[in-house]
Amino acid sequence: MKLSELLSRGRPTVSCELFPPKVGTTLDQVEGVLRDTAALRPDFISVTYGAGGSTSKRTQEIAVRLQDTYHVPALAHLTCVSSTREEISSMVAALRAAGIENILALRGDIPRDADFPSPEHYHYASELIGHIRSLEGGKELCIGAACYPEGHVECPHREDDIDFLKRKVDMGVDFLTTQMFFDNDVLYRFLYRVLAKGITVPVIAGIMPVMSVKQIRRSCELSGTVMPPRLQGIADRFGDDPAAMRQAGIAYATEQIVDLVAHGVEHIHIYTMNKPDVAARIMANLSDIIRPRG
Ligand code: FAD
Repeated sequence: MKLSELLSRGRPTVSCELFPPKVGTTLDQVEGVLRDTAALRPDFISVTYGAGGSTSKRTQEIAVRLQDTYHVPALAHLTCVSSTREEISSMVAALRAAGIENILALRGDIPRDADFPSPEHYHYASELIGHIRSLEGGKELCIGAACYPEGHVECPHREDDIDFLKRKVDMGVDFLTTQMFFDNDVLYRFLYRVLAKGITVPVIAGIMPVMSVKQIRRSCELSGTVMPPRLQGIADRFGDDPAAMRQAGIAYATEQIVDLVAHGVEHIHIYTMNKPDVAARIMANLSDIIRPRG
């Protein structure tokens, strides 16, 4: 099913995220994660794409398994910064042939040790989106893209970031998914700015349940996401106690989602990071607010 149809049905949705196993491991090693995540009956499951395309085949394999074996719509991530146009053309053709209708089109992080992007490579996700749309069958695909409520870390001015986002959407984007954020007011201000710019595609709010303080501080540092004082306080108090931090992280994510839905933000993506047990706890907390897929 195309996510554009799902997102236009006028009811709240919840989705989860998986990442492929490391190169050299078998798909069987994550089968339990796939099965348990699918059993939560999310509206769709997205599958990330390893930096530099290291696990690109795995992304497709997992997306197909989710759809064919577990009957959950899949969203395959695809990054372009380390690929040529020819490589992208054949990857998109393979995804289509395998029955994948939904692609999250991303630039990817520029590798530190490489002099990307060279003239043959893509510079921005907008070029990837234009390229996919120009391919055979590209117009029938549902294409999503990333957006950044606190601005993308490489862009010095937030206003420019929104202008670039508008250009990206105009290339043929059906929906956007946000980077993680921990202060809902940041998202509400962003949504006003997005609308003011004439961007009207659905925006899915990306929620990251904080399980490890060390990991989240590092991710925030890299992405420029701010940890508000309330979350800082929780991290300071429970960071050294994994069980307590897990419980507090689940509670924080749940509260964020309740507030978002109360404010009319109806599409929630949980960055479940291959932890179906965490997603299960959050979804159980919300079972009368966002009902599982029928
Ligand atoms: P773009 O939209 O191209 O933006 C990149 C930067 O370029 C921004 O600063 C933007 O303001 C600027 N820009 C855009 N257009 C122009 C222009 N014309 N002129 C000048 N500047 C411009 N990474 C992975 O490797 N695998 C994944 O599976 C993955 N999934 C993700 C899912 C989500 C929901 C999000 C939010 C991020 C994900 N990422 C993933 C990370 C993403 O690849 C990085 O954040 C990357 O640095 C930017 O990708 P983008 O598609 O947002 O880039």
